[in-house]
Amino acid sequence: MSDSQKESFARSSIRIYGRLLGYVKPYWLPFAVSIFGFMIFASSQPAMAGMLKYFVDGLTEGASAQFLGVPLIWGFPLFIILIAVYQGIGSFLGNYYIARVSLGVVHDLRTALFDNLLTLPNRYFDNNNSGHLVSRVTFNVTMVTGAATDAIKVVFREGMTVLFLFGYLLWMNWKLTLVLIAVLPLIGLLVNSTSKKFRKQSKKIQTAMGDVTHVTSETITGYRVVRSFGGETYESDRFEKASENNRLRGLKMVRTGAVFTPTLQLVTYGAMAGVMFLVLFLRGDATAGDLVAYITAAGMLPKPIRQLSEVSANIQKGIAAAESIFEQLDEEPEKDTGSIERDRISGRIEVKNLSFHYPETDKVVLQDINFAVEPGQMVALVGRSGSGKSTLANLIPRFYSHDEGEILLDGVEVEQYRLRNLRRHIALVTQHVTLFNDTVANNIAYGDLAGAPREAIIEAAEAAYAREFIEELPQGFDTLVGENGVLLSGGQRQRLAIARALLRDAPILILDEATSALDTESERHIQAALDRVMEGRTALVIAHRLSTIEKADIIMVMDKGQIVERGSHAELIAQNGYYARLHSMQFQDEKPVV
Ligand code: ATP
Ligand code: MG
Repeated sequence: MSDSQKESFARSSIRIYGRLLGYVKPYWLPFAVSIFGFMIFASSQPAMAGMLKYFVDGLTEGASAQFLGVPLIWGFPLFIILIAVYQGIGSFLGNYYIARVSLGVVHDLRTALFDNLLTLPNRYFDNNNSGHLVSRVTFNVTMVTGAATDAIKVVFREGMTVLFLFGYLLWMNWKLTLVLIAVLPLIGLLVNSTSKKFRKQSKKIQTAMGDVTHVTSETITGYRVVRSFGGETYESDRFEKASENNRLRGLKMVRTGAVFTPTLQLVTYGAMAGVMFLVLFLRGDATAGDLVAYITAAGMLPKPIRQLSEVSANIQKGIAAAESIFEQLDEEPEKDTGSIERDRISGRIEVKNLSFHYPETDKVVLQDINFAVEPGQMVALVGRSGSGKSTLANLIPRFYSHDEGEILLDGVEVEQYRLRNLRRHIALVTQHVTLFNDTVANNIAYGDLAGAPREAIIEAAEAAYAREFIEELPQGFDTLVGENGVLLSGGQRQRLAIARALLRDAPILILDEATSALDTESERHIQAALDRVMEGRTALVIAHRLSTIEKADIIMVMDKGQIVERGSHAELIAQNGYYARLHSMQFQDEKPVV
């Protein structure tokens, strides 16, 4: 490590720890109580050693010896009990209140992290895999607990113990004690160099842990594919590798610690040996009791010093974890600079000269798109897979922000709406349906709609042609649908998603392949229902099956990010272009079925 790197390491540690301490601020009172407790605890330590002085001196004096004003034989045991009580109170206050602080901090951090997830732009989720995000909320946060609870506890308790012991030793014999103090810088150097290793290794362990979570969650969610394609060996190998990597990194970290501790012991015991030698050599006029007390107090030093220096591993783990937590917290949230809020919009969509590419790629996904939809009209987007239909649909609720061109809702650029308000006006059924592990009713009435009256939910289900199957479920609308609705069929899931969108009662309805998993009959029913709900609403419908969009006011055919044809069904058929070809192909496909 170069000097500048060293400096930045130290600076970043301090900055991160400082920021972590910022989270401690609200808990200053329990924090103060716990420090007070540890102070009590630590101050009892030299008392134990000091007591021995009276014990040994008393032994040499014989039966006349007094302690605390009573004969030694009573005074001494009584003192031990008193010290134990005193120490116990200190220990309780210290441990309990520091736990209140650190568990509070962890809770706050975890909540901040989770709430932050809710504000991050889509791009962040595109670029980070969910296993690592999950592992950050679960694993990394507990690493911070390590730094916050154990480390702070040890630092205060043992740190103060060391201070009190040194104080006592200096008071007993300052010259001898200087010998002990002389080794402190050496210990400092040792701790410092090991800390750096710990921190680096700890970061790698976190990544390794993220990999383990990632492979596990991917296999769990994709278990059907894993089994049907015989992916067991592949997944097992992948997991084995991730876990093995984790094991090796863990071992490396333990090795660093295992080398460090005995080295440190050697240094402290070396200092002790020197002191012993000097004590014996320069005995002078000290009593046996003085010497025993001094040696005992000095002998109590290595343990807290060792604990103090070992805690640096915990602190480094915590700092490394906090670093990745703060990195996420510092991610820029979804841009929400707009200020316009409307109670209701009419639903006019106008797109002008819109071009778009996904952030961090140069491939142009949409190119010079122009169209306008009047309120109540239905626009259909058709075109080859990958031609940019979903992308266009995703730009309207601003899941990604566009730089070139304009998207206007009721004449106002979407960027100028406040995000939440903008999205309130749009009901969206995405290509990949998402359901939550909750009841059917709560899945339909989700988010802003939570708490909608039961009649409204049933009505929406009816319109989505879902009521019939829902009522056949064991608990009807109160049936749990399982994770992402695994207990339902694909078409049933789609109908729930449509019901959710219908319940939203928004002026703009976007359906991205919303009926692709339905049979012809359900689709026809939903089509009829949609025709009804689409009245007075603007609808943007993406469909591969052309039969669903024949009635659209405008059909736009997309290819490679451009609109290559547009018009009504009849016009496009008459044009005899791409759409007409597509149509005749599907017509042929459907023929044998009839
Ligand atoms: P389909 O009919 O298969 O749903 P589509 O017309 O909806 O296709 P899009 O999903 O809009 O196609 O994708 C258009 C292009 O953008 C594709 O080439 C795809 O690779 C790319 N793309 C889609 N999503 C992202 C993303 N989040 N990041 C980067 N590129 C993306
Ligand atoms: Mg799509």
